[in-house]
Amino acid sequence: MYLLLLVLIPVFAMAQERHHFGVDFDALKSRHEFCRRPGPNVLDDSLHQFNVLKIWSDLTFNLNNPGIAGSARLQMAFDETPLPRVDLKLVYSLSVDSVTSTTHTVDSVGRQGLDSLQIYLSPALQLGDTADITIFYHGTPSIIDGWGGMFFAQAAGWRPQICYTLGDALGLDPPPANFAWLPSFADPNDKVEWEAWLHVPPGKVGVSAGVRVDSTLNPDSSSTWHYRLDQPVSTYLVFVSVSEYEIMIQRESNPVIENFVYPSRVTQAQVHFQPVPECIDAFSANFGPFVFDRFGYNMARNGDMEHATSVSHYDGAVVSNRSWDWILFHEMSHHWWGDWVTCADWRDLWLNEGFATYCEALGMEWVYGEQSFRDYMRTDLQPAARNAGNVSTIYDPDYYWGAIVYEKGGCVLHMLRWVMGDSLFFEAMRDYGQQYAFSTATTVDFQAVCEAHYDSTLQWFFDKWVFEGTGYPQYQVIYDAAHSVSLTVNQLQQTTYFAMPIEIAKYVEDAIITDTVWVIPDNNGSWTTNDIGLFDSIRIDPRGWLLKTATHEDITEVEDFTATPDSFELSAAYPNPFNPTLTIAYVSPRPQPVTMRAYNVQGQLAVEKTALASAGSNTLVWNAENQASGVYLIQLSTQTEMRAVKAVLLK
Ligand SMILES: [Zn+2]
Repeated sequence: MYLLLLVLIPVFAMAQERHHFGVDFDALKSRHEFCRRPGPNVLDDSLHQFNVLKIWSDLTFNLNNPGIAGSARLQMAFDETPLPRVDLKLVYSLSVDSVTSTTHTVDSVGRQGLDSLQIYLSPALQLGDTADITIFYHGTPSIIDGWGGMFFAQAAGWRPQICYTLGDALGLDPPPANFAWLPSFADPNDKVEWEAWLHVPPGKVGVSAGVRVDSTLNPDSSSTWHYRLDQPVSTYLVFVSVSEYEIMIQRESNPVIENFVYPSRVTQAQVHFQPVPECIDAFSANFGPFVFDRFGYNMARNGDMEHATSVSHYDGAVVSNRSWDWILFHEMSHHWWGDWVTCADWRDLWLNEGFATYCEALGMEWVYGEQSFRDYMRTDLQPAARNAGNVSTIYDPDYYWGAIVYEKGGCVLHMLRWVMGDSLFFEAMRDYGQQYAFSTATTVDFQAVCEAHYDSTLQWFFDKWVFEGTGYPQYQVIYDAAHSVSLTVNQLQQTTYFAMPIEIAKYVEDAIITDTVWVIPDNNGSWTTNDIGLFDSIRIDPRGWLLKTATHEDITEVEDFTATPDSFELSAAYPNPFNPTLTIAYVSPRPQPVTMRAYNVQGQLAVEKTALASAGSNTLVWNAENQASGVYLIQLSTQTEMRAVKAVLLK
């Protein structure tokens, strides 16, 4: 899932401005901690040791006077201890009309405790029993969280009337929120098959998880939409949504790709969803085949949430440019990491969200190429991960929905790829998928799969980066170019010291020699080698594998160390938006030719110009009076490095 708050989204939403859209995580954190304290109404864990096999949902929707009425049939197996009753969650504002069973006698039904439902059956439930119960209910779901549950909204501007659900809530622990509209118990390791009938008002379309079996027009002009999902998923991944939709089919089979789009946004949707088929093929090639029978996105007032087979997708993201590709990639990838293999426990949430966040970058790599991928890591994920600080570990985080789990989790996966190498890393990812297909996994399980492929322990990596360590290395690189023998790498951070293999670029006259050294810090965070060969200067981690900061100091030039910049950097592009002149400011560590290229959103080269940069601060000016309005990617490159920024031409 990805949290989007609507009010702060600019008209031109730049990828680098997206992170959580101004959510105050400190405020959310305290709320979260409040929610983690067991309250008086928390269910006793021993009372839901059953395995729900399948849920059949039959619901009638009223969008004018918000409400639902219908039934949920649950087939469940009792495979642990004998139970006196079935305990489910159901929001208190929904009334239970009756409960029937084809396998047992329903003795009584209770609503003791907030949002809970007890069903007493006879004979008492024994190990090995299967029960089949149907709960008839109706009412108006009360809102249980600002992000999670069932929501109704009336038409507003281009947005039509809608009822939609989001399966996780920010303020709940555990997060599943489908009890807002569906009697259920949503432990991630209880995976269910799903079948749904949605009876919707005239002119509306219903969508739910699974393939669309059929749709029927009723005599009163209402219609019934029937879906079936044969692949088991965690209950937080089922959903319903009812609105005015056009069904936009992008692919007929393997899998069917269909999007549920507001009629007012069909033109934008044709541009917006364009990379979806190519990206799903790329994820399939690298992670293993897509396992569900359908894929697509359904527009909703809020999002995004990776509901199985159909992502509930924030409607404001459906625009005619490429600025929201990252969220399409993120949610699609959850169909491997989250929906196919689910975190066994919410403490392991990074196996869903850190993986999906890294898949934003992998989507860039596989759809747009390696440079887009490296730019995305450097300008999006790594800055957000550094800003997340050292408040918490990734495993069992203080807060589920923040940058520690998402962006830092993504950066850790990127570093694991660097440590293992591409072929072993992606082999391990495919194997992890196969081993835990339609099941759940812990971080320990994932580590074991990686170690089997790496053929060596990775405990040192997982301990520092996932289980115990916090923060990231702040490297101080000291070398003596005059004598070309020694290299010292200090770690200045106050928290964990990290042992890592680090790629090093040695500049020797006109050549660049890359090498890898294992930087294993001593108790003071320091590491030195005297066996580094001849060089004029050194840069560590030139391809940006590591989550880090780094300063480089040549002790032979220490006096002017502050006089020239440490590395080639693009400092600013202004004004932004611009019309028609854009100034690009950058710094260069040495005199060298610098080439500027600007690409439009279609990837076409709009301008290319080369200037000779001096050491220090420089500017380049682009007059775009002959270009069309839109988002431009501005790239500045030297012979060895490239930096990029986005700017909007607004005429
Ligand atoms: Zn997500």
